[in-house]
Amino acid sequence: MGARDSISVTTLAIYPFLPAAASYIKNLNIGVTEVTTSPVFENIIQKSMADITGAIHGTLSRTQKEDITESEMQLLSYPITRMILSCMDNPHLTQRYAIAESKEASKNLKQEKTEQLKKVAKELNLHSIIEKKQFLYIHFAEYVQTAHSIKERKWKLTNRRLDKGSVTINNKDFIRLLEEQIKKRVLHGMPLDVSDEICTSLESCTEQIKTILSQTQQDIVYDLGKVNQEYFPPCIAYAIKTVQAGINISHSTRFALTSFLVTIGMSVDAIIELFASSPDFDAEKTRYQIEHIAGSGGTTYTPPSCTTMATFGNCIGKNRLCDKISHPLNYYRRKGWLETHKHRS
Ligand code: SF4
Repeated sequence: MGARDSISVTTLAIYPFLPAAASYIKNLNIGVTEVTTSPVFENIIQKSMADITGAIHGTLSRTQKEDITESEMQLLSYPITRMILSCMDNPHLTQRYAIAESKEASKNLKQEKTEQLKKVAKELNLHSIIEKKQFLYIHFAEYVQTAHSIKERKWKLTNRRLDKGSVTINNKDFIRLLEEQIKKRVLHGMPLDVSDEICTSLESCTEQIKTILSQTQQDIVYDLGKVNQEYFPPCIAYAIKTVQAGINISHSTRFALTSFLVTIGMSVDAIIELFASSPDFDAEKTRYQIEHIAGSGGTTYTPPSCTTMATFGNCIGKNRLCDKISHPLNYYRRKGWLETHKHRS
């Protein structure tokens, strides 16, 4: 990378997942064992802890520091965070961290000038040509590779303007693509192969996080959008509880749960996060399955009726309201209506 293309360390500190950040850290010549065992680097470990707990509570924050030492400290904390997460080997937490990191980066990218945005994008393998009125062109192959994991219809290549092999895209959508790339980059290679020795030296961190997780497990707020968990029918609430307990659910339950959540408007990321507790969790496979049910292949699947749920043994916890409906979606809507009108009267 030439001097004109290089990104300053103060900027890298807010995008620590970039390859340029990894190169910068390499040149610092500081060993992992040194960081994890020497009291001199205590503040780096603390920053990692703050980032992981921030991801758990939805408060992860990266602000640009003018001070180089402080920026380097932020940079160094990123690989340590990945090691702590790898030692814990909790896919749910790793997924949550990746989402928090990509959302925070997206917030910061919105403040960047176009040239800086281009530099960051290049690092993430998205090469753009900036045109007037804030429109960008990116090669269709790069577009497809990145946008395929976003479910909304507008991201399909057929719904984009294609000009000589390039897709036209506005600034806001470009940042959304970058957010997707960042999430993939953060998850790439996770969990890392961390030695027992390093995991032992990080044990006080992993134990602290486990305590925080057990305290907040009930309070973890999913990005539900307009979705209200209190209106879920008993069968869906039961399926969610089973997944969250780390128990594998049957194919029919998984289909019923996913199609229900997709239909009521839960985001793909939030559903992936939910399934991340499953013992056989595979982020990419799960994303593909959810997007398929959401209609990426042209067919949008609706959740099964109560009769079908009962046939497959998925009608669990039936209550009085269930006697008045024939479909789990009707339960959700009716419960919502009842609750809203209860509060009004
Ligand atoms: S009756 Fe319908 S909504 Fe109620 S638990 Fe059974 S499947 Fe779910």
